[in-house]
Amino acid sequence: MHLFRGPGFVAGFSDRADGSLDFSDRTPEEAGRLWAGLPAVAGLGLPPPRFAHQVHSTTLLRVGADAPAGRQGQADALMTSVPAMPIGVFTADCLPVLVVAGEAVMAVHAGWKGTRQDITGRSIAALAEATGVSPARMQVFMGPCIGSCCLELGEEVVEEFRATDPGSLACFARGARWHLDLRGLNVIQCLERGVARAAIRHVNDCTKCLSDRYFSYRQMRGRHGTQFSFIARLPEEGAPSSGAA
Ligand SMILES: [Zn+2]
Repeated sequence: MHLFRGPGFVAGFSDRADGSLDFSDRTPEEAGRLWAGLPAVAGLGLPPPRFAHQVHSTTLLRVGADAPAGRQGQADALMTSVPAMPIGVFTADCLPVLVVAGEAVMAVHAGWKGTRQDITGRSIAALAEATGVSPARMQVFMGPCIGSCCLELGEEVVEEFRATDPGSLACFARGARWHLDLRGLNVIQCLERGVARAAIRHVNDCTKCLSDRYFSYRQMRGRHGTQFSFIARLPEEGAPSSGAA
């Protein structure tokens, strides 16, 4: 688990050492036990996470204080302003993007399909509108994903990108096949919305090259396991507890 801790928040990206954290097909009770058993999470005192039924959309779900533990509706991004309520996304080559915006946090599942539709940029704009926090004051954490070394796409996919967003072609390279720099394109989408470059931090690992460390959909040719990436607000150290459930 890669953990990033800052004033008032914690963001984490799991890896194979944490096991497959595909909570989505488990009951809320099973998911809660799995969550509570994670060594990196155990000391944080956080309840089980909320997550979406991911469908490669650009839908951003707002998670309120009354949201039940576990799976919410169909979406590929979640945000919450509720303290100490972890939200997260599942990936196994796609890029997990975690965002801190003042008192709110957001988690985004950015595969190439969502990235073609600018899910990260759109979600940042929506988060800014919902919170009043300028993207220039947001912090972004990008987790492990398939690297440009390994993300090969067909000509027809490149044509889709060309039609949707001609500028995205800067992140493609043509060798024997087309390769996409998924992380780089998501960084550009953040910068276009006004996020500061220095406020974007990375786990630069390629999930396919490092498939001994990460679950990789492409390396394993199917669904053999999943990383879970989460973010939550924490009470500021020394500050009184918010009292939220
Ligand atoms: Zn690679």
